[in-house]
Amino acid sequence: MGVMELLLPPACAGCGRYGAVLCVTCVAGMRSARAPDDHFSSADPGIVVGEALEVAVAAFVHEGATRRALQRLKYGGAAALAAPLAERAMPALGDLLAMVDGDVALVPVPVHPERQRQRGYNQAALLARVLASRVGLPLRDVLVRTRPTARQHGLSRAARLHNLRGAFGLAECVPPGSAAVLVDDILTTSATLEACAEVLRAGGAARVVGFAIAREV
Ligand SMILES: [Zn+2]
Repeated sequence: MGVMELLLPPACAGCGRYGAVLCVTCVAGMRSARAPDDHFSSADPGIVVGEALEVAVAAFVHEGATRRALQRLKYGGAAALAAPLAERAMPALGDLLAMVDGDVALVPVPVHPERQRQRGYNQAALLARVLASRVGLPLRDVLVRTRPTARQHGLSRAARLHNLRGAFGLAECVPPGSAAVLVDDILTTSATLEACAEVLRAGGAARVVGFAIAREV
């Protein structure tokens, strides 16, 4: 952090105005990824259904201030954005948690250790930590990325799944029969969540669902 950043109030990641890491105007403008209640006959664009992954839910549409804030969190060293983003995503997580019970823990999607060293943190783990403490569930940081993967951006779903094969492993066992809520920052095709869910299911998890702050729609 430079001297100017210490002297100035933080700039909003959404609009650049000084005052907060994410200002109230930008937070209010974050568009929910879930279908409005009066459109429940159409497919909910916020929900993805997989195989090992039962279902994945995202809180917001990946656009505007949400996109800029997640970009800053992931690539701009703005770890302070994890708390307001996670806080704002709480209602969507609550809806997802209503679908699972028993021994439930939040499990962050891991980044490769080399990338984590460059960034200084795993943004999904930061988000999962805030969410876990807010909902009073344990955080199980058990997944590891065993090899770096090519960037997923621009790849088809099939190419993404191939790219991710064998990319994840378990650092420790999960309690047999437990449920895991995978947490990631952005949900694109759900290929990453699906690959993580396969590993968790093979490691003893009975149910795996996914949660992301934002979804590409
Ligand atoms: Zn703003």
